[in-house]
Amino acid sequence: MPEPKVYLVGAGPGDPGLVTLRARELIGQADVLVYDYLVDPGLLRWCEEDCEQVYVGKKAGFHALPQDEIEALLVDRFRAGKLVVRLKGGDPFVFGRGGEEARRLAEDGVDFEIVPGVSASLAAAAFAGIPLTHRDTASSVILVTGHEDPSKTAVSVDWRALAVPNTTICIYMGMGRLPEISRELILGGLDPETPAACVQWASLGRQRTCVATLATLPEAVSRERLTAPAMIIVGDVVGFRDTIAWFEKKPLLGRKVAVTRNREQAGKLASRLEAKGAEVLRLPLLSIVPATDPEVEEEVFGELGSYEWIVFSSANGVRCFFDLLIRRYDDLRSLGMLRIAAVGEATARAIRAHHLRVDIVPTRATAEDLADALIATGELDSAKIVVVTGNLGRDVLINRLNEARAIVDRFPVYRTEKTGLSDHPGAQAFRETGADAVLFTSSSAVRSFVDQAEALKPGPDAKRPIAGSIGPITSKTMRKVGMPVDFEAKKSTLDALVDALCEKLGSLDA
Ligand code: SAH
Repeated sequence: MPEPKVYLVGAGPGDPGLVTLRARELIGQADVLVYDYLVDPGLLRWCEEDCEQVYVGKKAGFHALPQDEIEALLVDRFRAGKLVVRLKGGDPFVFGRGGEEARRLAEDGVDFEIVPGVSASLAAAAFAGIPLTHRDTASSVILVTGHEDPSKTAVSVDWRALAVPNTTICIYMGMGRLPEISRELILGGLDPETPAACVQWASLGRQRTCVATLATLPEAVSRERLTAPAMIIVGDVVGFRDTIAWFEKKPLLGRKVAVTRNREQAGKLASRLEAKGAEVLRLPLLSIVPATDPEVEEEVFGELGSYEWIVFSSANGVRCFFDLLIRRYDDLRSLGMLRIAAVGEATARAIRAHHLRVDIVPTRATAEDLADALIATGELDSAKIVVVTGNLGRDVLINRLNEARAIVDRFPVYRTEKTGLSDHPGAQAFRETGADAVLFTSSSAVRSFVDQAEALKPGPDAKRPIAGSIGPITSKTMRKVGMPVDFEAKKSTLDALVDALCEKLGSLDA
């Protein structure tokens, strides 16, 4: 049991890739996770299932929980012996009231630590291509808040005094008072022509940036309809953006893409999409539940030594099978001298991860191609084969092998189950905002998408997505259920699926 402690942890600007290793590790250990509005939901995936998650929200003007109650909550959970992670957007000590929380913890004798994070100004600058300092034009940086406490107890900002030459000004929470701030900085002596930028949702797929001058930024921002949360950056360094901007060039930036794989597999596709700038809505329609028929399991493992081939039809099957094997025998050698076949590269990779060679992988990842490749060995007559599958696997492979006079045992090692979606945050976002595209990587996902149509029904303002498929079999299922196939991957791989999506969206724009 880790010691009870409260960690004030910077959650960075949004992109989960921008939190520290320490933050990720602590989220995984937390008994209690306290987070607010600007913390990306993506980070919550790292918690253990039994972690208590407390949302203390804080959209401008609306506090889900008042500051002193948040502090009391931290103290209370600490006294209950918990490891508490208080996640705060950006860095906890930059306009995050982290100072107040730390002070309360210190005064109440609570053991605590502080983990810094990437503050929004640094992220906005990096992701908009604006260096905050530059040898020729900016030798200092000011971080300032534009939001002044209406109760007037907080210190106020003397904007005119901030009008210093060769300085970059980063304004947090400045959107509500931008016209006034711009006017005051000009009155303080800054050139109205000074380049200025506003970066909304920095580091996320929905990032938007507008560039103007100090004088024209308020008008540009309202014309472009940029709203909080956004960072305002004023200074000559903004001029470098013309040449340095990089993030907004990504092909899928600003696109929302729904991914329908199960939770275990969604990550790989999601990270490929995110690398191209997309915002990913995870719709875990399916979950993989390890499950076997005990009799079949006994039989297969009892005869393991007599099989000539073991054939895997999915990476999930590989994972579940080796879990079973190791739980039983505690030693990989119990697999014996079987030859190994995999339906495709992804499945083969999962096998190789156990330091095993895969003897056959067909070039196209279909059951038919796998059957052909096995039959082509010319040695199937009377050969014993075990086919490791899920509960939904098609019979094509087994039938073809039987026709080739092999003796085939089918060994289902997992079940594919539907996930409840009505409260799921990804599904909720999908209903509200819709998506540019929805991607299907298996027939079972297509079917459960249709089954769960009610929980995924788009609201009145939701964007209708185009639909893409990983290959001919999935496409066929889509057509069968009456779904259009707007694009299909050229090869049955995740990369090819992402490429097909980029191409399709690009052609729709053109
Ligand atoms: N502690 C946080 C700041 C909290 S104040 C930090 O260090 O970043 C909240 C303000 O931060 C917002 O009003 C906005 O100005 C800025 N902000 C936070 N996340 C942002 C993002 N992803 N993009 C742009 N600005 C952001």
